[in-house]
Amino acid sequence: MNQAAPQSSHVVAKFGGTSVADFEAMNRSADVVLGNPDVRLVVLSASAGVTNLLVALAAGSESEQRSYQLDEIRRIQYAILDRLDNPSVVREEIDRMLENIAMLSEAAALATSTALTDELVSHGELMSTLLFVEILRQRQAQAEWFDVRKVMHTDDHFGRATPDGAVLKELAQTLLQPRLQASLVVTQGFIGSEAKGRTTTLGRGGSDYTAALLGEALNLSRVDIWTDVPGIYTTDPRVVPAAKRIDKIAFEEAAEMATFGAKVLHPATLLPAVRSDIPVFVGSSKDPAAGGTLVCNTTENPPLFRALALRRKQTLLTLHSLNMLHARGFLAEVFSILARHDISVDLITTSEVSIALTMDTTGTTSSGRSLLTTALLTELSSLCRVEVEEDLALIALIGNKLSRACGVGKEVFGVMDPFNIRMICYGASNYNLCFLVPGADAEQVVRTLHHNLFE
Ligand code: ASP
Ligand code: MG
Repeated sequence: MNQAAPQSSHVVAKFGGTSVADFEAMNRSADVVLGNPDVRLVVLSASAGVTNLLVALAAGSESEQRSYQLDEIRRIQYAILDRLDNPSVVREEIDRMLENIAMLSEAAALATSTALTDELVSHGELMSTLLFVEILRQRQAQAEWFDVRKVMHTDDHFGRATPDGAVLKELAQTLLQPRLQASLVVTQGFIGSEAKGRTTTLGRGGSDYTAALLGEALNLSRVDIWTDVPGIYTTDPRVVPAAKRIDKIAFEEAAEMATFGAKVLHPATLLPAVRSDIPVFVGSSKDPAAGGTLVCNTTENPPLFRALALRRKQTLLTLHSLNMLHARGFLAEVFSILARHDISVDLITTSEVSIALTMDTTGTTSSGRSLLTTALLTELSSLCRVEVEEDLALIALIGNKLSRACGVGKEVFGVMDPFNIRMICYGASNYNLCFLVPGADAEQVVRTLHHNLFE
């Protein structure tokens, strides 16, 4: 499948919800698109707020709440539509979608399902792309709307579907590639279709992933992710105002950051980029001139400490074996129970008779707690004593050759003295060192570490 088609100079540009939130934002994004002739393919999220409203409708709202939510969606999209030079071109289609949404959410109020949810939620991206095509056209650009579901075929794991890369490549080459020569193509992030043609979604925030997958399938030279922050920072600037922008970062480091909670990129985005060595640029559509971060296959002087990521709402599960000192197979038993309950483990430490672990909630909207069903706890309790601690925060220090370098202990743990570190994971990865601290201390820990390591 990986036969190397010649790489084109074309770029795919993805715009997130805030970049297509309203008429002004869409025009700023259009400036970005039209300002770079290499951009031929545009991938959009839904206008900010719309996906959340659709998710709420899909969960089955009371009729009063439902009409408020429907009005909100209409208001957001009409605020853009009404300002188009020639709104009649897309009004009919937007109205048809709004009607569809109303109908589907009535059905959801009676009986909701994951398939229905995906069908409903997809309307956000369908509408934002329709409106954006019109914005480009009224600015004299040749632009075409493309339904990504024609090429983004996935399994039927609604809510978090997995795309079929080989099929995508083939279909994108035949259906999409030729169009890019003739005009700009605007398509949807986040959504796909399964074998029976039903709509699926790739998980919240999945539009980044769509852009990277399309970039890979079409052999494009770069994936540009336009969001509302000008790049990736050494930590969240809202927590630490002194955080610095990182101009260039390696794939592995950025992937660790996304996985451990940095909100800038969807965690799966970098898989296709790494696989096919396509650089990913992250910048702000509000201020394109501010530059951004280039994520690429760089090896130039990677720093020992790169960034700090913070993930809240972690649940720690401690399992004490009852009478299994020196017994064989305790870990295996625990893991097979977790696997049966579809739980993927994130951090783990072990001692002779106990295991402490946190659950991987990357890319889902669930908290660790909600993954702990009664059935799971009952099954574990028959094997061991189970303790659950909530409201912890995971802090990941991202860096290079962390487990090979000296000085990490002093620089990191030297300043951690005032805090209770509930768990430490160090040594398995060269790129991260993780610890769990009480949620209430998290920001202070991040500020203290950032000050010592980056300022
Ligand atoms: N609109 C979807 C969401 O809000 C996908 C995305 O924006 O990436 O999750
Ligand atoms: Mg996003």
